[in-house]
Amino acid sequence: MRHHASSRALAFARARKAAHTWVDPYRPAGKLYPAACGQCGATEWQGRWRWDEPLPDLPRVLCPACERIRDGVPAHVLELTGALPPRWNEVRGMIGNVERAEVAEHPLERVMRVEVRDDRVLVPTTGLHIARRLVAALVRRFRREIRITFGDHATTVEWLEPRRRA
Ligand SMILES: [Zn+2]
Repeated sequence: MRHHASSRALAFARARKAAHTWVDPYRPAGKLYPAACGQCGATEWQGRWRWDEPLPDLPRVLCPACERIRDGVPAHVLELTGALPPRWNEVRGMIGNVERAEVAEHPLERVMRVEVRDDRVLVPTTGLHIARRLVAALVRRFRREIRITFGDHATTVEWLEPRRRA
C-alpha cells in the first residue's frame, strides 16, 4: 500500500517535470510579435496568450491551441477505461469544470473533442498542464478506485472493479 502510494507520487513528479520541460512544437520560440487569434480571440503579447480584448489592428493568426484543434493533433490524451460507465456522468462534469477554470487562466490549455468508445473514453488536450490537472482532480476524487499509467503522449486512468481495488 505504502509502496503503491509512493510509486504513484513518483510517477506524478516525473509527469510534472516532463510538463515543465516540454517544448510545444505548436509554439515556436522567438515569435514575439503581438497578435490575436482569428478563431478564438485570444491575444498574444511577448509569447503569452491571454483573453484581453484584442486591439483592432493586431495581426490575425491562429493560436497554437486552435491550430492543434484544426489539425486534430492533441498534445496529450487521457484514456479513461475500466469500470468507468457508472461514473461517467460525474467524470464528464469534472472534466468540464477543470477545463473552464484552466482555460480562463491559460487560453492554450483546452480539452479537444471527447471521444466515447465502447470500452474507453478518449480526452485529448491541447496542452500537458490541463492533462495533469485533470488527472490530479480524478485522483483527489477517486483515489483507490483508479490505477494510473503515465506515458509521454497518453495517460491511462483505469477504474478498477471493487474486488480489484487496493
Ligand atoms: Zn485560438
